[in-house]
Amino acid sequence: MNTPASSRQHQVTLRQRMEIAERTMAFQFEKPSGFTFRPGQYLDVTLINPAETDVEGNIRTFSIASAPHEETLMVATRLRDTAFKRTLAALSPGAEVLIDSPGGSFTLHNNAARTAVFIVGGIGVTPVRSMLVAAAHEHLPHRVLMLYLNRRPQDAAFLDELTGLQASNPNFRLVPVMTAVAEAGPGPGEHGPFTAEVLRTHTTDAVSPVYYVVGPPGMVNGVHGLLNGIGVDDDDIRLEDFGGY
Ligand SMILES: Cc1cc2nc3c(=O)[nH]c(=O)nc-3n(C[C@H](O)[C@H](O)[C@H](O)COP(=O)(O)OP(=O)(O)OC[C@H]3O[C@@H](n4cnc5c(N)ncnc54)[C@H](O)[C@@H]3O)c2cc1C
Repeated sequence: MNTPASSRQHQVTLRQRMEIAERTMAFQFEKPSGFTFRPGQYLDVTLINPAETDVEGNIRTFSIASAPHEETLMVATRLRDTAFKRTLAALSPGAEVLIDSPGGSFTLHNNAARTAVFIVGGIGVTPVRSMLVAAAHEHLPHRVLMLYLNRRPQDAAFLDELTGLQASNPNFRLVPVMTAVAEAGPGPGEHGPFTAEVLRTHTTDAVSPVYYVVGPPGMVNGVHGLLNGIGVDDDDIRLEDFGGY
């Protein structure tokens, strides 16, 4: 058995991988015994002796998409044509990677009287799935609204599961926002760009909202500016920027 490079690292086995949206894959790894994390945290994944590498190296940060009570550790990513992603996508069940201890503070606030408003761009869904599945499991009293921005439904990972979560958690409401109007086709939610007006329409009953913005840097910056522009203070905004997209 290989010795992990650092005592904070765990060598974990891939159990299953599945396509969860167009060019988007989830990977479920065996969870090391005693491994704990808070919903919304991330970890580093290191490829072990990959067949190819490039200047970006063999490590990427991924938010944990599974909830703590679930059996496996899941991460999900958009597959792009980089050495890391090509190698990751080709891993078969039984293959091993190294993971680091979890980190990050993009986690749900404590005060259940305040509404959580998630504004999620594409693959930014990963930490939010963890938080929402955990909230439903723990019957958390928080009211939660998720505005889920994607170009088209086929880009929206976990969309069916999140839609279904509304039935098991009456405090949770999902509003898909499909931004590529011409390609999105009919469907529930909003169609067109995400604007202050769209936000206002769906947050009229939000109580002292805490805004969570997560996704690629351009999306996070844009929505941050939009929130500041309508007078939301940074004290009420939490940002998680998926640097690298
Ligand atoms: C806290 C945190 C959490 C994260 N969570 C997730 C997560 O859950 N899921 C996830 O997928 N990612 C997540 N990321 C981002 C992740 O770490 C990678 O940076 C990202 O997936 C890109 O990796 P890559 O191998 O595709 O690109 P890299 O090889 O890392 O390339 C990085 C640079 O090359 C450019 N580039 C490479 N390929 C392309 C391409 N095809 N088109 C355009 N430009 C390109 C990019 O502009 C980028 O600047 C997270 C990042 C952070 C900081």
